[in-house]
Amino acid sequence: MSSTKTVFLTGASGFIALHITGVLLSKGYNVVGTVRSQSKADNIIKNFKKEYPDIDSRLVFEIVPDISEPTAFDSALQAHPEIQFVLHTASPFSFGLDQPLDQAYLIPATQGTKNVLTAIQRFAPQVTKVVITSSFAAMINGDKSGDSSFVHTEDTWNPITWADVQNEGDAYFASKTLAEKLAREFVITETPNFTVTSVNPPYVLGPQRFTDTLANKTLNTSAEYINGLLDLPRDYSSQSLDPRGVCVDVRDVALLHVLALENDKLQGLRLFPASAHFNLQVLLNLAHEQIPELSNLIGKGIPEGAEHSANVDNLYYDTSKTLNATGISQWIPLETTVKDSVTQILNYRKEHNI
Ligand code: NDP
Repeated sequence: MSSTKTVFLTGASGFIALHITGVLLSKGYNVVGTVRSQSKADNIIKNFKKEYPDIDSRLVFEIVPDISEPTAFDSALQAHPEIQFVLHTASPFSFGLDQPLDQAYLIPATQGTKNVLTAIQRFAPQVTKVVITSSFAAMINGDKSGDSSFVHTEDTWNPITWADVQNEGDAYFASKTLAEKLAREFVITETPNFTVTSVNPPYVLGPQRFTDTLANKTLNTSAEYINGLLDLPRDYSSQSLDPRGVCVDVRDVALLHVLALENDKLQGLRLFPASAHFNLQVLLNLAHEQIPELSNLIGKGIPEGAEHSANVDNLYYDTSKTLNATGISQWIPLETTVKDSVTQILNYRKEHNI
């Protein structure tokens, strides 16, 4: 029997999931990914083939058009008895969806989670570890912004209920909170053969795994924060302190998903990665500091006071439990995240005369 381990990865075309696939392949895993269309699968294979000529035998796809469908994952799991681990990343993370809030966020997040867990229990009893991509959204208490006496950790939960939802942001936060709760309750009530670990990142920034996604006018919600900066005019002289929040590099998020499969001590935990507080002006300041040529292209806004504001008017947090449990010494610094993202976008624009 082959010792190669096979991982089932939902939402494999996503920003974070493409990085996860890269980590899995580099560590010798095989991957069965789910995507919504064959063209997405073909494109991912084409990109990874440049790094892994044997990719056809290591990365295969199953088409799952909608994770909300009760039987969404059944045939995919039945077709691959070699799957040992499951990473569930698929969930809506694009704002501006033209649908009622429950259909746009709540149903795919919660039903998608329920469907994958139920399908594993029924059709893949050999699976021992499941990791779900939850979110810092499931940990935060929005009323505590600016309150240094309230520190968000792996143990805090967002108190939001669906009845509290008034806008898209609330809907996303509630969807992630309720989906993670559902997964944790599933383990208690169903006692399946697998454990459920969650990765709870705040805003995920960083370079794209493959540059062809940069051909899109806008990137996914979080990656767009840095991409959008590069469209500021040369005479930009305002100070934008929103969006503000806590962030982390996509490469740390991807690594954590894989460590959660490898390190038994992490089973069942909530893993919380975070590198810095930020606001839009902080990102702009770092971009100019890291890439001096940028001053020929975009304005500097008003650099003064942005960092203080980001650190003070924000959610206080502590990730030391996750650092200790994983043995990671530090998260990738925001300076590196910004530098790598901006460099990648500028190079792409130069190559394509954009
Ligand atoms: P992306 O939008 O890039 O990826 C989301 C993935 O989920 C895509 O592959 C998407 O498919 C798929 N998907 C969404 N809805 C459905 C559906 N109804 N049926 C089938 N597939 C679906 O976002 P990210 O990579 O950033 O997000 C991945 C996960 O990380 C999500 O669970 C998100 O909530 C979580 N997260 C993200 C953060 C961030 O800042 N980026 C922060 C915290 C958590 P398609 O490409 O075809 O649309």
